[in-house]
Amino acid sequence: MAEAIGGRAALLDERGPLALTAPFLMALAPGERLHQQAAASRVDADGRHSQLVYLPLVPFGGEEATATVVLARDLTESVATQNLINATTYVAAFGMLVLIAGGLYRWLGRTLRPMRRAMDTLDRIGHGDFETDLQADSRVAEIARLQEVTRTMAGRLGHIVEIEEENARLAFRDALTDLPNRRLLLEHLEHAIHTVNRTRRHAALLLIDLDNFKTLNDTCGHSAGDRLLQALAQRFTARLRDQDIVARLGGDEFVALLEELSPDRSQAGADAQRIAGELLKAMREPVRIDDIEHVMSGSIGITLFPRGFDTPEELLKQADFAMYQAKQQGRNGVRFYDPAMQRTLLREAELERKLRRALQGEELVIHLQPQVDPEGRILGAEALMRWPQPDGSWISPGEFIPVAEHTGQILEVGRLALQQACHTLRAWQGRPVLDRLPISVNLSPHHLRQPRLMEEVTAILDETGAAAQRLHIEVTESVMADASQPLIANLEALRARGVALALDDFGTGYSSLGYLKRLPLDVLKIDRSFVQDIEHDADDANIVATIAAIAHNMGLSLIAEGVENEAQRDFLVRHGCHRFQGYLYHHAMPVADFEALVAAGTDAADHGTIDTQGEQE
Ligand code: C2E
Ligand code: CA
Ligand code: CA
Repeated sequence: MAEAIGGRAALLDERGPLALTAPFLMALAPGERLHQQAAASRVDADGRHSQLVYLPLVPFGGEEATATVVLARDLTESVATQNLINATTYVAAFGMLVLIAGGLYRWLGRTLRPMRRAMDTLDRIGHGDFETDLQADSRVAEIARLQEVTRTMAGRLGHIVEIEEENARLAFRDALTDLPNRRLLLEHLEHAIHTVNRTRRHAALLLIDLDNFKTLNDTCGHSAGDRLLQALAQRFTARLRDQDIVARLGGDEFVALLEELSPDRSQAGADAQRIAGELLKAMREPVRIDDIEHVMSGSIGITLFPRGFDTPEELLKQADFAMYQAKQQGRNGVRFYDPAMQRTLLREAELERKLRRALQGEELVIHLQPQVDPEGRILGAEALMRWPQPDGSWISPGEFIPVAEHTGQILEVGRLALQQACHTLRAWQGRPVLDRLPISVNLSPHHLRQPRLMEEVTAILDETGAAAQRLHIEVTESVMADASQPLIANLEALRARGVALALDDFGTGYSSLGYLKRLPLDVLKIDRSFVQDIEHDADDANIVATIAAIAHNMGLSLIAEGVENEAQRDFLVRHGCHRFQGYLYHHAMPVADFEALVAAGTDAADHGTIDTQGEQE
């Protein structure tokens, strides 16, 4: 039997093997009772696989088997083959799985991409971006539908939002002119009130009212009136700076809000008035409507703020009040709400007119105030403008220089001073003592920032033939507040040309030592306010001593202005200041008097004494 199945056989009784076809393949464990098994496959400790068939031998008439034949077949080889087959199958199956998963993943990816784009679009819609180039291009019907729906939604929402925005814009705009309306103006005003309180710069509210609009509307029709208002709206906008706002309050009332005016109130007032004048001019230019030329006129009320507890409504009321007064005055009027401002500006306007004539007629003349050493010997002079009046009085520079600064006439004043100083210097050439003396000219910071300053100075030096080395220029310390590049470049160019630079009014507050180092300077001029209190005010005395030390350390020469008595002079001398200008020595005087004084001093020096005391204007 064993042979027939290519295996082995064993005969067992309950005590163990009785006969074996050797070698039997199984290692039987002691006491192992094989016959009790029915049929089994087993794996031996050596790893061999076998299949066993148990044939119990039951004697005739008996009930129990007394022995068992075990047929065993070695399956090790076929198990190995089976294992290989199994393993290969697993690997193949796994490979298939991986391939399927990869394919599925790619397929899903491709299918989901349109979905993701749709989701992105939805996300952008959520953020208010309704632009989309989403196409219903997915091959999956459901996703294509999602794309389609998203696209439609974006389109409709975009449209709705446009309408909303347009409505919001209309709520803040005047429909006729597209200018801000009262509501938006009030918002701007509110904001401006906060800003001026923070920056200390002024702002102005101008209320503009057309004088003869009603007549035009009645005679030429509303459509003509509308077009006129549109034309004016455009002109006003064009005349103003970008940061300014023109609004229409309705009817023929416009408002301009000017921000970022000067911190100086009267300068701000002058600027607001100038701009009001320009708006009136813009109004007066003829407007052509239906082949008819219309010439308009208007009145403007101005209120400047901050004034205290400003509210938008209050400011509008003030501007309205001022505008009403302007109308009372007649056409083309401008009026300020603030009566003091109104008076100042009227006086300034008057002065400006007079000054224009005076400048044309070169009525302004320089006087010279001597600068002296401790012994009173004259070292030079400062040119100070004088404006003589027909009645023999003269208007002080303290009055007309600020006006000239406001109106820009200061450039003319400066040029006149330069011309007269250079002319004088030229006349002094070859004359004893005089030809060594420099003249200092005051130039306004505004002048010193002019891009063509050097051209102007060079031309004057050339025309007059004065030596640049004798010309000094005084720069007030306030330039430091805005020592911009063009200004510094101008100062450097002047210095390169040989003109010496003095920093005027030094100590009054603007300069940092850093600026002092950056500016090309030769002289520091101690402001007269310090000199005045030198004897009584310990702080001022300290400041003067400090300025003297700074000048010394920076290699600058030092001069004190406003020296009125000997105590002041002595203090200054003790602290290293040896040049003075002031009433202790001389007032400013006409050029001819100065020349005579120098000549007398020279004569006096020849005789060994210098007596300049008591000589005054
Ligand atoms: P500043 O440049 O500080 O000129 C000195 C001023 O002090 C002059 O006043 C002068 O007369 C006055 N002064 C001189 N000695 C004494 C003194 O002992 N005591 C007192 N209390 N004052 C004295 P002025 O001539 O009235 O000029 C005033 C200001 O006007 C000048 O101040 C200057 O800033 C400006 N200014 C004058 N002329 C011109 C000019 O041609 N161009 C420019 N841009 N400004 C000028
Ligand atoms: Ca000066
Ligand atoms: Ca001064």
